[in-house]
Amino acid sequence: MGLRLFNTLTRSVEPFAPLDPAGRRVGMYCCGPTVYDFAHIGNWRTFVFADLVRRTLEFRGFIVNHVMNITDVEDKIIKRVKETGQPLREFTSRYESAFFEDLQTLNCLPPHLTPRATDHIPDILTLIGQLITRGVAYQAPDGSVYFSIEKYRGCGCTYGQLVRLNFDEMRTGERVKNDEYAKESLADFALWKARVPEDGDVFWPSPWGEGRPGWHIECSAMSMKALGPSFDLHLGGEDLAFPHHEDEIAQSEGAGVQPAGQRFVKHWLHGAHLLVEGRKMAKSLGNFFTLRDLLNQGFKGREVRHLLLSAHYRETFNFTLDGLHGARTALGRIDECVGKLRELAGPATAEPDPALVNRFTDALDDDLNISATWAAVFDWVRDTNRRLAESALSPQQAAAALAAWTCVDSVLGVGASAETGAPSDILALAEARAAAKKARDFAKADKLRDELKAQGWTVEDTPKGPKLKKVSP
Ligand code: AMP
Ligand code: ZN
Repeated sequence: MGLRLFNTLTRSVEPFAPLDPAGRRVGMYCCGPTVYDFAHIGNWRTFVFADLVRRTLEFRGFIVNHVMNITDVEDKIIKRVKETGQPLREFTSRYESAFFEDLQTLNCLPPHLTPRATDHIPDILTLIGQLITRGVAYQAPDGSVYFSIEKYRGCGCTYGQLVRLNFDEMRTGERVKNDEYAKESLADFALWKARVPEDGDVFWPSPWGEGRPGWHIECSAMSMKALGPSFDLHLGGEDLAFPHHEDEIAQSEGAGVQPAGQRFVKHWLHGAHLLVEGRKMAKSLGNFFTLRDLLNQGFKGREVRHLLLSAHYRETFNFTLDGLHGARTALGRIDECVGKLRELAGPATAEPDPALVNRFTDALDDDLNISATWAAVFDWVRDTNRRLAESALSPQQAAAALAAWTCVDSVLGVGASAETGAPSDILALAEARAAAKKARDFAKADKLRDELKAQGWTVEDTPKGPKLKKVSP
């Protein structure tokens, strides 16, 4: 059947076909974090969703170029920079590093490119210049440069493709300078914001005077720089569809840089929100958990990842700690089954058992039907456990079952390590212990051994190197 995905642009599930005439290369852009604080796990739902899309595409044989920007200058950042009195880069770099650490903890594949907005000011200025030349942007009396929705629509372009807008209520020429604005304020939005005293040291020179870019133009400039003026996939959380993505389309297509007949983006994907008691998890509502909050409570990255991947990406769901405990139990069942298969398979190798892989692939192809993929996995666990209990599996069959699990886990990314069955955080502890021993810091090595023990793992030093073993409960 092939991969089918919902496209916000057409509001329908479509076969996924990249622009590449050979049908193999895929350009994918996901709006990245705004580095003014630690990302909360609502944000992480969207980034893990992007990772699922990337892994699915690779699983289906596409060669993906995955770009995720770092928004390191916008209204919220400027406000925080002013409050803390730190230089911009010093302030943002802390949250940027934390973002990459969390990305790893959640076992997300690192994007191939993570451009920062502040490293792309010349590209942003060029794009604004093109929009002015084409008559769809103008400098207002306040010195800022705005995108003119009226002029854009006058050129036969459509504003309001991802969401339906009510133009009857729009007053032409009304302007909005904030990066985030509500649907009611359908208005000309800022591309370049003239310097004001509150900006402190955060400004750059431009042909229109000193100032800083608006948030929306940053993504247009960086995505087209990295992937070309027309690319395959653009992702983000559902709150970004309007105005951020609508404005991205207007700016990118308004510059007229696409080849004839091609759109800025062929396929738009939006992930639904993570909720807390029915409301969006958001910093402004104070109802959020960061990943670090959950790690401090003893949860593992893979448990959080499992939870974030438990519902279809177009469905909201409520975050609860009970849900996380459920994720722990579910992963424990997989670990136990995979551990037994490893023991039985020993050194045997085999091709993946197609039964699990085929059912899993069909579910993924169906607009990333994650619930059906988990159903395939847990039916397989139940069936495999039964056959193990009946001693009905040969080492060869166990190896085929293991290979099937490895294959599906290349997409799910929640698995235990192939060697020992140890999850990545345990491996990290073991590696740190080995490094401490090598550095002859035996006190630290012993401390790490105790830490491993506390988490239910022993480490044996063998001639082939340290070996991890799970202590039976
Ligand atoms: P930000 O760092 O605020 O720019 O947000 C990063 C990403 O997280 C964006 O794609 C948002 O749409 C997304 N996001 C924000 N809140 C949530 C939430 N509660 N659930 C899922 N995604 C979210
Ligand atoms: Zn963006």
